[in-house]
Amino acid sequence: MKILSNLHTHSQFSDGKNTAREVVEAAVEKGFTVLGMSDHGYTDFDFSYCMHGERLENYKPTIRALQEEFADRIRVLCGVEHDFFGPDFAHEGYDYFIGSVHYVIGNGIYYPIDESAAKTQACIDDGFGGDTIAFCRSYYDSVVKCAQMKPLFLGHFDLITKHGVPDESDPRYISLTLEAMDAVLETGVPIEVNTGAMARGVTTAPYPSSFLMRRIAEKNGTVTLGSDCHDCTKLDYAFDVALDCLRNSGIRSVLVYDGTQFVEQGI
Ligand SMILES: [Zn+2]
Ligand SMILES: [Zn+2]
Repeated sequence: MKILSNLHTHSQFSDGKNTAREVVEAAVEKGFTVLGMSDHGYTDFDFSYCMHGERLENYKPTIRALQEEFADRIRVLCGVEHDFFGPDFAHEGYDYFIGSVHYVIGNGIYYPIDESAAKTQACIDDGFGGDTIAFCRSYYDSVVKCAQMKPLFLGHFDLITKHGVPDESDPRYISLTLEAMDAVLETGVPIEVNTGAMARGVTTAPYPSSFLMRRIAEKNGTVTLGSDCHDCTKLDYAFDVALDCLRNSGIRSVLVYDGTQFVEQGI
C-alpha cells in the first residue's frame, strides 16, 4: 500500500532546500495525488527558519499560482506549519494549518528544542534549574494547548526527544507524556506520524514513540503520515517504516487527505 499524499513539506520560503516548484514537480514525479506546502509560519522572536518579510508576502501568491498551473496533475494546497508561540492570526488565510511546538521558554528565552542536545540542556539548566521533568511538563503543556487550537493535525508530538534528552524510560516522563497524549486525543485532532528526523539521519523511528502509538491505538485516536520534507528527494521518506510501526502498535488505519478532507485508509 502506498500513501500518495503529504501535507507536511517545506521549501525555500522557510528552511527547505528546494524551491516550491521543485517540491511540486517531485510530487508529480512520484505520482502523488495531493501535496500540501506547509512552510514555517511567522514567529516574531526567531527569524532563523520562519517565513518573514518578502518571503512571507510572496508565499501565498506563489503557491496559489502553482496550484493553478499543476491543477490537471496534482492537487496542491497552500498550508502553513504554525508554531504554537507564533501570533494567533499567523495561520489564517491558508487551506489548512499544522499545529506544532518548536520551543520551550526558559527564563524568558525561547529555546528551539529540535536544534541540538546542547541547546535543550541549556534550556533545562538555565530555565528550569536543571529539572528535566519540569522542562518536559512545560513542553507538553504547550502541545496540549496547541491541539486545542484545532489544527488540521498536530505535528511531531514528541519532538522534544529528537536529540536524546530527556530519558524516555523515566517513569515520570512516561506518565506526564501519556497524560498529555490523552488530553490531545480528547480534542479529536489527528496526530501526525512524522518521519522528518529519520530523513535527516537523526533517529531510526518516527514520532511519536511506540508507547505513545500504543496509547493512540487503545484510545481509538486518529493518525496521519507526514514526512516533514525539507528535501524534495525525500517526500515520502520512510513511510513504509512508519506504517510498520503503526501496525505493530495496533493501529489499523491512517487518515489520508484527498484534496478536500481526510479519508480513512486501512493499513
Ligand atoms: Zn515542525
Ligand atoms: Zn515541519
